[in-house]
Formats: sequence, structure tokens, C-alpha cells
Amino acid sequence: MALTGLQIYKMLPRTNCKECGQATCLAFAMQLAAGKASLDLCPHVSQEAREALSSASEPPIALVKIGAGEHAVELGNETVLFRHDKRFVHPTAIAVTVSDLLDKEQIARRVEEINGLFFERVGQVEGVNLVAVKQDGDRDRFAAAVRVAREKSALPLMLISEDAGALAGALEIAGDGRPLICGATRANREAVVELARKYDCPLVVRSDNLDDLAGLVDETVKAGHKQLILDTGARSVERVLADQTLVRRLAVNKRFRLFGYPTVAFACSGDAIQDMLDAAVYIGKYAAVVVVDSAERADILPLITWRLNIYTDPQKPIAVEAKVYEVGKPGPDSPVFLTTNFSLTYFCVAGDIEGTRTSAYILPVDTEGTSVLTAWAAGKLAPEKIAEFIEESGIAERVRHRKLIIPGGLAVMSGKLQEATGWEILVGPRESSSINAFLKEHWS
Ligand code: SF4
Repeated sequence: MALTGLQIYKMLPRTNCKECGQATCLAFAMQLAAGKASLDLCPHVSQEAREALSSASEPPIALVKIGAGEHAVELGNETVLFRHDKRFVHPTAIAVTVSDLLDKEQIARRVEEINGLFFERVGQVEGVNLVAVKQDGDRDRFAAAVRVAREKSALPLMLISEDAGALAGALEIAGDGRPLICGATRANREAVVELARKYDCPLVVRSDNLDDLAGLVDETVKAGHKQLILDTGARSVERVLADQTLVRRLAVNKRFRLFGYPTVAFACSGDAIQDMLDAAVYIGKYAAVVVVDSAERADILPLITWRLNIYTDPQKPIAVEAKVYEVGKPGPDSPVFLTTNFSLTYFCVAGDIEGTRTSAYILPVDTEGTSVLTAWAAGKLAPEKIAEFIEESGIAERVRHRKLIIPGGLAVMSGKLQEATGWEILVGPRESSSINAFLKEHWS
């Protein structure tokens, strides 16, 4: 059972030295109890207390790793119920199914399709994470499908079967890649847990009710396997949402260790649109793995975008490097646009300039990833700072003119900016979507 803040407090030095970043030892103890701080932040805690407190300072949801190498996936280590409380740590892994009822060529084509489900969004390449091979046929078909998936994809595998014999055959083929075994039930637990231990693979534990699931997790942990992912057995969106929420609350708020593992949810009803809506719900709350049947790019891209939104650290806006960017093939007479290094702002501006078919330079000032008006209001877009950036960027050596196009929202500083930089300031549109019209009128 988890320790309370007061129990933890009694084991701390109680000197209120503030070195952990908290005003008092009691405040630090409360943070530890809530799983929002690490014991390592207190340099004065005794070894004896450290050992006693170690489980209290562990994240309430265990870290689980699937796969090996470049595409390995980490899940868990979550500490909060709501992203704005701190941040979500590991984005939901998206697994796309392949049925072993397909013939060998169809499986190969399907796996290639899954391999291609990667997209560039705001400067980052994001994609699906797991190839989920599903046993719908006999053991030989399953083994053959796993072999093709293994040969054709560098992504980690998920092996969906509750037949311990079929899993044993599949693990002989793919066990060294640390696939996710899915999974153990009350009926097959002993044999499947033994396989997971033998190949050191993460394991989905499934039961149809939460009480039995807790018991099954307890037995599995006592059998020596702790790399677990929980499947509550729910398949309707209402029940999945209720179970996911309850499991996360019990793990984070009550420190109920038997539910302190990442979870999996399935959006595989056969209706692709409904499945994508369900999958979006599960990404929001709180599935660590979502399994979908669709390998259509049009279905997967919205999920990837949604996941990027949910799992972006709210305290660290995504930002591009502050330097000179080229759109097209700009020359000495090309326009120069100023903006901020908030990724969404930068990529909107870059995309809208691309749409004009005019080559140009873009200078995103380092505003710590904040948008134009936020940066201006916070004093991160002062004329002197912009002048310094223009000087350091070397843009003056790349263009013959001295004209700088600034976002319309910064019109108020155009005079001071002209003085600070010595460049003629052209006040651009407030919205980057109007850049085309602006260029036609002001840049020939
Ligand atoms: Fe207390 Fe340790 Fe924090 Fe100092 S660093 S205030 S001793 S918890």
C-alpha cells in the first residue's frame, strides 16, 4: 500500500533546506506521495529512508518496453491524470493488425502498407509503432504470418493469440525482437507467462472483470514477470473509457500497485470510421497501446495528429531552431519574412509562402516556442533582440535589399524595429493565409 505524505515526511531529514526545490520537507513529501517528484531531488535523505521510500517514489505506472533497437517503444511511467497537471510521458503506441488468414503475398503487402504509415508533422516524423499479427487460423498460418511480418518490418511485433502453442512457435521466429505477447488469460496463464519470461517479452494480461484482472496480475508478478500491459477485456467504447479511467485513477491516486501498468485498448469493430473515433477516445484516456484494423493513411493521419496534440509537453512548446530557412530557391532579391520559432507558427508561415510559389527566406526568432502575440506580450520579441538575431543570422549577406516583412500583429513596433535594425519594415498580414495577396501587392 502506498505511503501517505505524512508517513513519508517522518522519514525525511525535516530541515526544510529547500534544495529539492520545495519550500519545506512536508511539501516535498506530499509531492512524493502524489508521484510528482523523485526522491533523488533530496540529497540529504538517509540510505535507510531511501530504501523504505523507494516504492513510494517510483512512478505509479511502471515503465514497459516493447521491441529492440531504433523502433523500440517505451510505455508507462505516467504520473498524472490530466496533462495540465504536469505532462503525459510516453505517447500511445498505435498497433495495426495483420490477420494470418491472408496469403503470404497479401501479408507482405499489408506489412509494407503499415511500414509506410509515417507522416511529417510540424517538423517531426510521426507514425505507427507496432505490427500486430493476429491469429485467426491455425498455428502454422500464425507462424508463417509472423515470419513474413518479421522479415518485412523493422517495427516491433505484437503477437495476438491466446493459444500458448501458437505463441511458442511465433516466439521461436520473433522472440529475439522482444514482441508484445497478447496475451495471458486465466486459462493459459502459466504457459504464456513462462514464454514471456523465457523470451523476456512484455505481456498483455487480460480478464473480463477488474477484480479478476487484479488477481491475475498478482499471480503473474509473483511468478516473476513484471513487464505487463493490462487489458480489461472491454470492447465497447463506453466500457473501455470507464475501465481505462478507473485503472488510471486507482494507479495514480490510490497507488494501487496491481493496476500500476500501462493499458491496451482495441478499436477493431470492422467499421473504420467508428474505430478511428473510438481510437481517438482511447488515446485521450488513457490507453498506452491502441490496436486498430485500418492501415489507410487517411484514417491513421488524424490519430497521429491527435496523439501529437495530447502528448506534447504543455510546458515545452515545440519549437524550430532559430536560423535562416529557405523556401524554394531564394536569391538576393527574395523577400525576407520574420516570425517566431513556435513550430505551429513557423510551419503555417512556411506552408503559406510555399503556396505562393515565391521563393523566400524566413527568420524565426527564438521566442522559446511561443507564438507572435504571446512572445510580444511577454517581451520576447523586443526590437533589440530581433536586431541582434538579424545580425547573427547572416541574412544581410544573402540579400541585396534591406526590407523585412513582419507579422501584422507586430505593426505597433515597426518604427522602433526600423531604428534598431536599419532595415525598412514592411508590415505583413495578421494571418499568414494572406501572404499571397500581400506579396502580389507589395513585392514585385
Ligand atoms: Fe527537506 Fe530534503 Fe527537500 Fe531539504 S532537500 S527541504 S531536507 S526534502
